[in-house]
Amino acid sequence: MPQRKNPSMSLTHVPICSGTTTAMPRSSQNELFIDPRLVTTPDLVTPIIPSAGPPLANDPSFQSTWPHRAWVTSGCITLLISLAKAIVGAADSHMWLETILAGYVGYILADLLSGIYHWVIDNYGDASTPIFGSQIADFQGHHKQPWNFTRHQFAKNLHVPARSVTLYMLPIDIFCNEPVIQGFVSICAGCIMFSQQFHTWSHTTKSKLPPLVVALQDAGVLLSRSQHSAHHRPPYNSNYCIVSGVWNKLLDKYKVFEALEKFIFFKLGVRPRSWSDPGAEW
Ligand SMILES: [Zn+2]
Ligand SMILES: [Zn+2]
Repeated sequence: MPQRKNPSMSLTHVPICSGTTTAMPRSSQNELFIDPRLVTTPDLVTPIIPSAGPPLANDPSFQSTWPHRAWVTSGCITLLISLAKAIVGAADSHMWLETILAGYVGYILADLLSGIYHWVIDNYGDASTPIFGSQIADFQGHHKQPWNFTRHQFAKNLHVPARSVTLYMLPIDIFCNEPVIQGFVSICAGCIMFSQQFHTWSHTTKSKLPPLVVALQDAGVLLSRSQHSAHHRPPYNSNYCIVSGVWNKLLDKYKVFEALEKFIFFKLGVRPRSWSDPGAEW
């Protein structure tokens, strides 16, 4: 059975020389002798803050295009229509409590869905995979250079989920008049569409964030920097959820994604990327 690599193990076993039988200088006694092969970046230091040289400001790979802006605009419009129908429907039917609760469930579920999606694209497929290839390549690049999403312009960051939201929300906007359903889907789809922005904010220094965003991160409403930093340690196999991160502890404690990876491996013979040497593919 394939075993996960545990890089923290290699960092904790540091040989100690007692120096009790030789006449060593006192300053050398009890000295830590560290195998150079074991010297690496300490576990608590995670390169989540931009650590490499910033890219050129006019790098086209970081800039939004007009199609990107069009998809984000259409995504926002479909979300606003859904939200408006939820509010108007709740007012007409006096179903405020049910509609608000449905929105809260949508917010909680969005975090779980963001984690599942992130786990899939981190572990399966590659840049040549249809539809998802560019996202897979972007996230692999993000593991190598955690600052990259913070350099993306807004629509460049959000156009992929915005496209999905537009296509899924449009028929719901047109045919559904149930405020509870609209409350659920508008908040759930909205959190999924903006999850990449929440993710980007978790990589941004506090001094560069609006105070409201910092307050929401500190309150646990949005993904916090400290929680997401745990994802950026090889082999990048924990803390996948990027809306609020509320599911991360539970999913990691019960090794839900590991169980799914083993199930997929035994059923389909496909190994997730997180079982490989991070240096080789990430
Ligand atoms: Zn990742
Ligand atoms: Zn990240």
